[in-house]
Amino acid sequence: EAIRRREMLRCHDLAAKFYHHILLNTEAGVPALQYLQRRGLTLPTIEEFQLGFAPDRWDLLLTFFKKRGFEEEFLERAGLLSASQNQPGRYFDRFRGRVMFPIQDGQGRVIGFGGRILGKGEPKYLNSPETELFQKGRHLYNLHRARPFIRQQGRTILLEGYMDVIMAHQYGIRNVVAALGTALTLEQAKILKRNGNEIVMMYDGDRAGQNASVRSSEVITEAGGVPRVTVLPDGLDPDEFLRKFGTESFERIVEEGTISSTAFKLKMLRSNSQLSTQEGVIAFLSEAVRIIAEAKSPVERETYLRELAGEFNVSLESLKEEMKMVISNQK
Ligand code: ATP
Ligand code: MN
Ligand code: MN
Ligand code: MN
Repeated sequence: EAIRRREMLRCHDLAAKFYHHILLNTEAGVPALQYLQRRGLTLPTIEEFQLGFAPDRWDLLLTFFKKRGFEEEFLERAGLLSASQNQPGRYFDRFRGRVMFPIQDGQGRVIGFGGRILGKGEPKYLNSPETELFQKGRHLYNLHRARPFIRQQGRTILLEGYMDVIMAHQYGIRNVVAALGTALTLEQAKILKRNGNEIVMMYDGDRAGQNASVRSSEVITEAGGVPRVTVLPDGLDPDEFLRKFGTESFERIVEEGTISSTAFKLKMLRSNSQLSTQEGVIAFLSEAVRIIAEAKSPVERETYLRELAGEFNVSLESLKEEMKMVISNQK
């Protein structure tokens, strides 16, 4: 058991080196290297993250490992080869024609890969399957590099994608990690909470990202952490935002544009509400009160209620009354 784990780690380490070598030192790697450079990554960054390339071939990794005496079944279990459906006993490289992002555990050991297609195509990202080594709900991308910075700052910035994290790192923002998949799991939230209470989510500005922010903030609260949300302008993701506006603007938006998860939910509700009719306003207010009722701090609840009361010209008392109703209905 322990021996097999060690062997799997060794395979991943070898595979990462193999793909990295292809990217940097071979003709086959040129298009991928150009792609990454066109996306603004520098050579030191590519090296730091050990990015690689898996050429569009069926048996490159297979041959590489066979020469080193590894069994195909074992490599399939490790998630590096796939088994043929129609020819039992035949195996081929799982990752083909993809830029490779090694995924490391908390100690910096490679346990899996994300592979991005060059340019357009489906699926855009292909990840390692769940294996004995790699369970995506238990790991966070970049945690081992980010951990000291998270501890020092008491704050984690949680991003969606590999490219977001790598670009942030390149721009000098080091307390960044990504969940491997959009919504955070409780286990991931607990890991982050152990290193620092405040978790700032900076997800993509699209609908998927916004929904993931809501779900993840609930998980963070459950883990005992303090969720906050930063909304980037114009539907940009952090990678695009940094390339367009740079580090200072990024830091400013984290300082000034980060809101509590309650404020974020209210903001989303508002943008989905019809506030030009009286009916719409009433529906908005009652839903808003429901959201505010979930906030733990009485001061926070009162503050939001006051804001609403002022803005919509209703009495604070009536909103409080409404909130009592909501709370008693929930019991
Ligand atoms: P890029 O900038 O390279 O286009 P991205 O990170 O902005 O990539 P998104 O589409 O925003 O890509 O997805 C965010 C993250 O979600 C990805 O980095 C990846 O970790 C994950 N992801 C996206 N598509 C898939 C997929 N088809 N399968 C598994 N994970 C995916
Ligand atoms: Mn997205
Ligand atoms: Mn992107
Ligand atoms: Mn994105």
